Amino acid sequence: MELTIKRTENLKPKPDDASLGFGSLFTDHMFNMDYSLDKGWHSARIEPYAPIALDPATMFLHYGQGVFEGLKAYRTEAGNIQLFRPQENIKRLNRSCRRLCIPEVDENVALDVMKQLIALEKDWVPSAAETSLYVRPIIIAMDPFLGVRASQTYRFYIILSPVGAYYAEGFNPVKILVTSDYVRAVRGGVGEAKTPANYAASLLAGEEAHAAGYTQVLWLDGVEQKYLEEVGSMNIFFVIGDELVTPELNGSILPGITRKSVVELAKHWGEKVSERKISIDELMQAHRSGDLKEVFGAGTAAVISPVGQIKYRDEVITITDNQVGPIAKKYYKAITDIQYGKAEDPMGWIVAVT
Ligand SMILES: *Cc1c(COP(=O)(O)O)cnc(C)c1O
Repeated sequence: MELTIKRTENLKPKPDDASLGFGSLFTDHMFNMDYSLDKGWHSARIEPYAPIALDPATMFLHYGQGVFEGLKAYRTEAGNIQLFRPQENIKRLNRSCRRLCIPEVDENVALDVMKQLIALEKDWVPSAAETSLYVRPIIIAMDPFLGVRASQTYRFYIILSPVGAYYAEGFNPVKILVTSDYVRAVRGGVGEAKTPANYAASLLAGEEAHAAGYTQVLWLDGVEQKYLEEVGSMNIFFVIGDELVTPELNGSILPGITRKSVVELAKHWGEKVSERKISIDELMQAHRSGDLKEVFGAGTAAVISPVGQIKYRDEVITITDNQVGPIAKKYYKAITDIQYGKAEDPMGWIVAVT
């Protein structure tokens, strides 16, 4: 596919690595591509970052037909730029597309244009410890039409945002609240797709958790409200005795790439890891018997997020003495060392950009 590149003449000032937060600064260029029934995906182009003019009747705005992804580009000590398992993000984007009736993108084209955009913006990839360039691909329904059906036109775009260290104040455990009042997703719904509706649906529970002093919500399954699913925008792991456990993918859990990487590393190291159903009762019981050693979240933003406290109904349990456990630390180090090129990549997870 032909890619046209139009460079901006007004480069923005680059931020200071130390002042980076998350998601509010964007680079000078973006990738755009359009879909129509007669042409398929066409007009692939890199051009100056700019607002998109939308007809007020644009279907995405009314019915939420859209899918997105999130991954990061890392700068190594040698100064090269690399991506972590981007093919997995593109495959998941296409699985989300199928669920939302959006035409899939060619996986090779998507990876190639992503690499070209990042290479063009290489000076935006920060170099301070634990910083990165966040990559946000998204596809939205573009028909100006108020009937409910799948759109016949789409826009696929990719924007880039330099982001700071997630653990600016140190690698500290978070407190999470198990909600019995709301559910995030149900089997057969859109929980396993990265689609905006899931995030809108989670906001109220998140606000109530914050008001009660908790960082995130730990979701139970939407059918029986009995089995643990995931946390906010992370998957969840439990160390029970000598077993590393994560809820099995059941159709309502988002299949995280960090989750998959933790499971694959555990297997590579010959450790006991299970993807299985785990109920909130089993978790509370494991705590009472002293078998619950660690709990941690896994997702692109934080990589590994240790959990120090969980509240369920009227009970609050403290895990690993509210300290970071050795298992959480081990996975955090192993994955980030691969991402930043500080360690060998035995699993073949890295894709070089420059
Ligand atoms: C993106 C996301 C995750 C984590 O996926 P990664 O690929 O590891 O970043 C987990 N849960 C939800 C709801 C998500 O949106």
